[in-house]
Amino acid sequence: MKGRLAVYLGTFDPVHLGHLDIISRGLKAFDRILVGVGNNPDKKTLLNLEERVGLMEKVVREVITEPHRVEVKPFSGLAVHFVKDSGSSVMLRGLRTTSDMDYEFTMSLANMSLDPDIETLFLMAKDIYSHLSSSLLRQIASFGGDMSKFLPPGAVEIVYKRYKELAK
Ligand code: ADP
Repeated sequence: MKGRLAVYLGTFDPVHLGHLDIISRGLKAFDRILVGVGNNPDKKTLLNLEERVGLMEKVVREVITEPHRVEVKPFSGLAVHFVKDSGSSVMLRGLRTTSDMDYEFTMSLANMSLDPDIETLFLMAKDIYSHLSSSLLRQIASFGGDMSKFLPPGAVEIVYKRYKELAK
C-alpha cells in the first residue's frame, strides 16, 4: 500500500490499550503505520523481542479496524535511521502526562539534530489511558492483579503465563 507512512516506535513490553489507541488514531492522519518493536540488549524485558513482535501483530489483527494498514517490524539502533530506512519522515509518539514532556522534548530535539528531515509528531493519550504504562501493567501482573481493563484480550494470557513461569 502506498501513501503517507508514519513510524511508531516503542518497547511494547507488553503492548496495551494506550498503544493501540495511538495506532488507531494515527491511522486517521496517515495511510499506513509501521510499528517498530525495539530491541535493546541492555534493557531486560518481560517478553523477548520475538514475543513482543508476535503479540503486536496478533493484537493489531484483533483490535485495529483496518489491520492491513499496519506493519510490525523489530528494530534496533537509532530511531531516526529506522524511520529513514523505512521510507518515512515521521515518527509518531504518544504523550501521557506532563512528566512525559521532559523526556520526549529532549528526545525529539536529539532526533532533530541527528536528522532534521525527520519530524516527531505527538498524539495526546486518551484520558482513560493517560495513566497507563507497560511498567505499571507489569507491576499489576506480578501481584496477580486484573489486567483485562488495560490489555487487549489477546495479550492477557501470555503476560500472566510469563509471570507464572517466573514465579516457579
Ligand atoms: P518506550 O520504551 O519508548 O518508553 P513504550 O512501549 O513504553 O516505549 O511506549 C511506546 C510509545 O507509546 C511512546 O511514544 C509512549 O509515549 C507511548 N505510550 C505509552 N503509553 C501510552 C498510553 N497510555 N497512551 C498513549 N501513548 C502511550
